[in-house]
Amino acid sequence: MPIKNRFAELLGEITAWRRDIHAHPELLFDTHRTSALVAEKLKEFGCDEVTTGIGRTGVVGVIKGKTTHSGKVIGLRADMDALPILEATGLDYASKTPGAMHACGHDGHTAMLLGAAKYLAETRNFDGTVVVIFQPAEEGGGGGREMVNDGLMDRWNIQEVYGMHNMPGLPVGEFAIRPGALLASADEFDITVVGKGGHAAQPHDAIDTTLVASHIVVALQSIASRNVDPLKQVVVSVCTFRTETDSYNVIPQTVLLRGTVRALDPDVRDLAEGRVMAIAGATAEAFGARAEVNYQRGYPVTVNTPENTEFAADVAEAVAGHVIRDVSPLMAGEDFSFMLEERPGAYMMLGNGDGAMVHHPEYNFNDEAIPAGCSWFAELVERRMKSA
Ligand SMILES: [Zn+2]
Ligand SMILES: [Zn+2]
Repeated sequence: MPIKNRFAELLGEITAWRRDIHAHPELLFDTHRTSALVAEKLKEFGCDEVTTGIGRTGVVGVIKGKTTHSGKVIGLRADMDALPILEATGLDYASKTPGAMHACGHDGHTAMLLGAAKYLAETRNFDGTVVVIFQPAEEGGGGGREMVNDGLMDRWNIQEVYGMHNMPGLPVGEFAIRPGALLASADEFDITVVGKGGHAAQPHDAIDTTLVASHIVVALQSIASRNVDPLKQVVVSVCTFRTETDSYNVIPQTVLLRGTVRALDPDVRDLAEGRVMAIAGATAEAFGARAEVNYQRGYPVTVNTPENTEFAADVAEAVAGHVIRDVSPLMAGEDFSFMLEERPGAYMMLGNGDGAMVHHPEYNFNDEAIPAGCSWFAELVERRMKSA
């Protein structure tokens, strides 16, 4: 089963949607135009149900098969938001909003899922129900989490979920995936070291926060080298070290440290969080200072369920001829992880060919990937919920 012929016919139409969305990028939850366009298209396709306002600006469409005896419900998800980047592609359909750009290809994800929805609503050649999920605010806002908190999974009885991200560097239209952790958790911490300010010439009357903070920075690197199993991955990066003055002779009262923790294993993530808290607190205390730690959990690890991953890879192999089943994990984060925490499923990478990386001002989604992406979504449904 290569590319479905219908998607070759629909390619011009889907490409036009993609380019229209590209020209009108919207950030975070402000995907008002895009959400309205998606909802309008889903109604036009004849979806059985279209609901807006899930997770603020998310859109959900329901497509029932010719029969629904199987009782199966599959969720297919795309993200709709853009990035705060000034576009430098020079395309004739480049962003009309200076400072906003579809530099992560979410315009392509949305257009491909719309294409699949159109085909599935036309053919309904399956026994069960498809829920198409269009989420805002993937780029840092947690739109996936908001949709889950709005009852997405229970309200539509979704049993398994699938999503897809384009991948520059992988040949166009090819697929890559791995079971287990595909993308990292991404957490942030602020550590405020509070000591006792004073004259640099009389350190014995002060509690030197720069010295305390320096010990904390060094000790935090022992998490990766001494606490975490060397066969597992963690990144602890301190990216900000800020005193309150630029002076030569004042011991600062406080120092701010800021950084990120990335992990591919929920247990490693828990361990690292605990160690950041303990190391900061105990190191400060050892010097008579105090550390106020604010540890913010961001996106969880994106964990592909093995059985669903194998199935998704088989479908990709059928569509493209072959599939990479053991792609290396990436330390980037992804908020489809919140949906995968709720239900089994898999996140697939789709080749975008050569060209700029995502989040680069010259990046562009490759329209040649559309038939493969749409076919993968549609074939997932038709295979998982085969008509009798
Ligand atoms: Zn991105
Ligand atoms: Zn993205």
